[in-house]
Amino acid sequence: MGERLLTRNWGTPERHALKSYLAAGGYQSLKKARGMEPAAIVDEVKRSGLRGMGGAGFATGVKWGFVPRDNPRPRYLCVNADEGEPGTYKDRYLMERDPHMLLEGIAIACRAIGAQTAYIYIRGEFHAVADRLETAIAEARGGGYLGHNALGPGVDLDVWVHRGAGAYVCGEETALIESLEGKQGKPRLKPPFPAVVGAFAAPTIVNNVETLAQVPHILERGAAAWKALGVNGGSGTKLYGASGRVERPGLWELPMGTRLSEIVLEHAGGVRDGKRLKGVIPGGSSCPVLLPDEIDVPMTFDALMAKGSMLGTGCAAVLDEETCAVRLCLRLMRFYAHESCGQCTPCREGNHWLAKIVQRIESGRGEPGDVDLALEVAQNILGNTICPLGDACAMPARAFLQKYRAEFETHVRERRCPYGSYPIRPGGREITG
Ligand code: SF4
Repeated sequence: MGERLLTRNWGTPERHALKSYLAAGGYQSLKKARGMEPAAIVDEVKRSGLRGMGGAGFATGVKWGFVPRDNPRPRYLCVNADEGEPGTYKDRYLMERDPHMLLEGIAIACRAIGAQTAYIYIRGEFHAVADRLETAIAEARGGGYLGHNALGPGVDLDVWVHRGAGAYVCGEETALIESLEGKQGKPRLKPPFPAVVGAFAAPTIVNNVETLAQVPHILERGAAAWKALGVNGGSGTKLYGASGRVERPGLWELPMGTRLSEIVLEHAGGVRDGKRLKGVIPGGSSCPVLLPDEIDVPMTFDALMAKGSMLGTGCAAVLDEETCAVRLCLRLMRFYAHESCGQCTPCREGNHWLAKIVQRIESGRGEPGDVDLALEVAQNILGNTICPLGDACAMPARAFLQKYRAEFETHVRERRCPYGSYPIRPGGREITG
């Protein structure tokens, strides 16, 4: 399994309480950070190779280094705890089971970038987790780890929990900032990037929960030692998950770079009920699906990109031989059509067109040429939108259409789904508009 950092307290009673976190050596890295120059913290995180664990994979220390030092406005840290990617459930566990690890990471990050206010933008449905975070913030304030002088003499730190209202697009950093400011969660054109003009027009860093939870461990053991925990070109450790048609769905902390085949076949126990593997979506629904002969790949940003997919959040979803690829594609297209914020035409219209074409095929009303038409629509979305949501629809669509093309064409030719009928359920309404 390798060494556990993020999950090391998960087996202890009252693991979410301050006293348990302190007993396990918690907040020692913050004490260390108080004695370090901010630039030294940034350099240490740069050396560690830590990358954004929300899916983008941008180098964390480099991002912190973009905050202009000569801007007199206040600086902000926004924690992306929206976790709306279908198939993903890692940040929720981190916040629920060990909220102080995140708070310590927030405090260190704030010292590094010179922020005295942090907002945890949390998915609105995570009621219990948000309550737990607020309890942990109160505990940390009482212990002197947040609040007055938290970052050193005369340097206070306030952390606020901000509950979102349930839009997937608010996981995009500029939409998150708009929503935090009380506006509709619509992504901004970049540049300027948030590190320069972010929340309330001030320099802002947006980091994912898992990214920040790793920061205390980097300071605790040093960048080089933390980095060495990774394998196959990865740095440190990572929460990996597997769900769908597997024997043991779950979440595991493993060396960054663990092979997808090991996660699916060993940790998750392989395909359920002895069925054959049909494919794996490696890291959330926006990642292009991989065929069985493509899963012997290290789960790193670079290795998966070389395979034409993405690491995303690292939470895989497994398809077995009884999974209808067309139906699954339809479900994803509907999701992305519904979640488009509507600002750009290729995403607003294209996602709906994709959903309509795939629905036509799935329901036995497809026409010859529909597969190519859907591919053309996907191609026209790619790279032509303000934020990555358009690509998040088009990339998996293209992968499904190309890799399971024969299955799509069977639906068209036989005018039915070979896997059985698909009753349209409440909430799964037919798309007509
Ligand atoms: Fe909105 Fe979609 Fe454009 Fe993103 S890509 S800004 S979600 S319309």
